[in-house]
Amino acid sequence: MATTKKNSETIPAVGIDLGTTYSVVSRLDHTGKPVTLVNAEGDLLTPSVVLFDGDDVIVGREAWKAVAGEADHVALCSKREIGHPVYHKNFQGKQYPPEVIEGWILNKLRRDTAARVGPLSKVVITVPAYFDEVRRKATQDAGYMAGFEVMDILNEPTAAAIAFGYHEGYMNADGRPAKPQRILVYDLGGGTFDVTVMEIRGDRYIALATDGDVQLGGYDWDLRLVDLVAEAFIREHYADPREDPLIVGKLWRQCEDAKRTLSTRGKASVACDYRGFSSLVTVTQEQFEEATQDLLDRTRFTTTQTLHAARLDWKRIDRVLLVGGSTRMPMVRNMLRELSGKEPDSTVAADEAVAHGAALHAGLLLAKSQGEPATFAIRNVNSHSLGVVGTDPQTRRKRNGILIPRNTPLPVSAKRSFRTQKANQRSILVQVVEGENPSPDDCTMIGRCSVRRLPPNLPSRSRVDVVFQYQTNGRLKVRVTVPDSDVKVETEFQRENSLPKEHLDGWRRHISGVEPTDYR
Ligand code: AMP
Repeated sequence: MATTKKNSETIPAVGIDLGTTYSVVSRLDHTGKPVTLVNAEGDLLTPSVVLFDGDDVIVGREAWKAVAGEADHVALCSKREIGHPVYHKNFQGKQYPPEVIEGWILNKLRRDTAARVGPLSKVVITVPAYFDEVRRKATQDAGYMAGFEVMDILNEPTAAAIAFGYHEGYMNADGRPAKPQRILVYDLGGGTFDVTVMEIRGDRYIALATDGDVQLGGYDWDLRLVDLVAEAFIREHYADPREDPLIVGKLWRQCEDAKRTLSTRGKASVACDYRGFSSLVTVTQEQFEEATQDLLDRTRFTTTQTLHAARLDWKRIDRVLLVGGSTRMPMVRNMLRELSGKEPDSTVAADEAVAHGAALHAGLLLAKSQGEPATFAIRNVNSHSLGVVGTDPQTRRKRNGILIPRNTPLPVSAKRSFRTQKANQRSILVQVVEGENPSPDDCTMIGRCSVRRLPPNLPSRSRVDVVFQYQTNGRLKVRVTVPDSDVKVETEFQRENSLPKEHLDGWRRHISGVEPTDYR
């Protein structure tokens, strides 16, 4: 990647895997190879944990240690709540939007990275492929509040596929493998699950189908282990240690550790002290697998569905790529081997591959911005259908009129024509939703698009065209035209659950000390 070499000497090509439980930063070295950067503590993985300690906000390892004793002051798994107006816990009487908490995490990553590579602003941040538009926007906002200029957001499985392609020589213009490969990326992280079927064809990375669950990850396996230990404790002492949030924090940390032990040993022990009683509970791998079978089954079901959505069967898949720390659990590998009839592939580092792919993508964008040729191209699909809210003429019920079905290759545009109801109508309101359900109430409301200042004196039933465009990164743009009129119509896309620009600017100054820009 000679093109990024030149760039990396001026602007570092940096990619961030902002994980639910851990985050990773990578940059391209002078040869264009992605390397993982260590944080200020010297670790490759930074816990995505925030401790509110009086006026101080502490992120990473120390915050993670505080879970055991100061759980009330610690924000965990904020990525799982992104898209909601506020994080579920309050800290010293304050409730923060989840993207603000993510902003603090990213700010720590920015400062630690700057200490290694010099000042930086431009980055690529990854998101689960299954993230909807609202969550994507909130993640970009988190990057802004952390003082970054987010060049792009990239789907995690696509990032992993890019890292895999780099590893296999697909980035090498001279020695690139001629044979295309179809890969199924199974990505089970700390808090989210994604599965994507991709094709690597020459220098192109083409997503064929994607699906997932933003509420399923290693954390759920941890909680099951907490339950197993608590139940054993109750049988012995008739007291439930889960009643005390501080004990739960401590138990969770120990159980996460025990879970890792169970990936290499047949049993693990967890000590539990509560109300003056203590127990050392031993859990076998068999008990753990039994207690989490339904979680694994959910991933199996989604994997099979995604393969069908890509209109493929296992014979036509060349590799099953394991990504995400939770794929180290033997039950995952065994299930996928049995399901696919292939040995799952761990050639890319489970924890680092996503950040490496993001750095490669950052290098590509920087090179392109300097007019250099692209070394690879990405084609994504949308993970959720996009629709507008309409009324069923028969039942008078609201319904989701799907415009762009899920798994459509991106970028894609869809036009919807509306008619004015009366003469001289000056505005139209369009509600935009994402989701598969026919009822808009069961979909994610992205926002309202108010079309204002329509040309005066339009007759009743005049046509107004609204064009929705999903960009390659899954973000939405809305454009409005009135046929036979060159008047520029004003459109305002009012987002649900999104922080207004003034708030974002205020948080940017507060969290990162970096001056606002014209980001929108
Ligand atoms: P990631 O977000 O990809 O870094 O994945 C983090 C998740 O992987 C967390 O839930 C970890 O507990 C889990 N994890 C990491 N290593 C192991 C392991 N050896 N066995 C089981 N789970 C692991």
